[in-house]
Amino acid sequence: MRRKFVAGNWKMNTLGQSAAELARALAQAWPRAKPQVEVAVCPPFPYLASVGAALAGSGIELGAQNVSHEKPGALTGEIAIEMLRDLGCRWVILGHSERRRLMGETDALISKKVTAALAGGVPAILCVGETLAQREAGQTWAVLDAQMQGSLAGVEAVAMNDVVIAYEPVWAIGTGVTATTAQAQSAHAHLRRWLSIRYNPDVAGQTRILYGGSVKPDNAQSLLGQPDVDGALVGGASLKAADFLAIVRAAESIINP
Ligand code: PEP
Repeated sequence: MRRKFVAGNWKMNTLGQSAAELARALAQAWPRAKPQVEVAVCPPFPYLASVGAALAGSGIELGAQNVSHEKPGALTGEIAIEMLRDLGCRWVILGHSERRRLMGETDALISKKVTAALAGGVPAILCVGETLAQREAGQTWAVLDAQMQGSLAGVEAVAMNDVVIAYEPVWAIGTGVTATTAQAQSAHAHLRRWLSIRYNPDVAGQTRILYGGSVKPDNAQSLLGQPDVDGALVGGASLKAADFLAIVRAAESIINP
């Protein structure tokens, strides 16, 4: 069975004090790792160390929101995977639509980052998703296929143990508009079929596919209850401990009703 996974993407939010407070509140509420639900938070780079310290000993893992594909060296302003591992990062989010759209990240660059992350021993949460215009033009499957193909170029089946996919329709991110459960389920099923064809049925069966896009406490249970939705990547609602924990508990309640 695929373990449910709820990850919080704090994006470019919080300052030192609010990041530590949020992490402490989560750590208190989720003090031990549980076998059926995995939980992670991905704060901004400057707070990885303090959030990591606040989470120490709890059931919540640390993740980062980006990484360079280059080795440590002369590259001003970039962060290497070795540094994330050194800080205790268990995850790195790659290919987020904000980075694709606003920072010009291409599938080719994202695949280099995925390769660097996996080689550096930090599993990746790879984001894919279509824009509203692409959905309305009937291009959703073609867009997802191209992003998967390009971003996972060179990633062998055995390495897929360390990849989680996040389906994040761009039109649902930070907009308050959520995909319907049917839209989410059919996109996830499509991605799983893609994994089966590109890799094999085992990879398809074991790879976790998260949904992201305005997940909130009141819609989490129905989304996470879909057979191919293995968890959530949560933006805005991950900045409030109570809301994020409610989503985590919704994931737990699906397994232990
Ligand atoms: C995200 O950016 O990964 C995200 C899902 O954001 P939100 O939950 O705010 O839509």
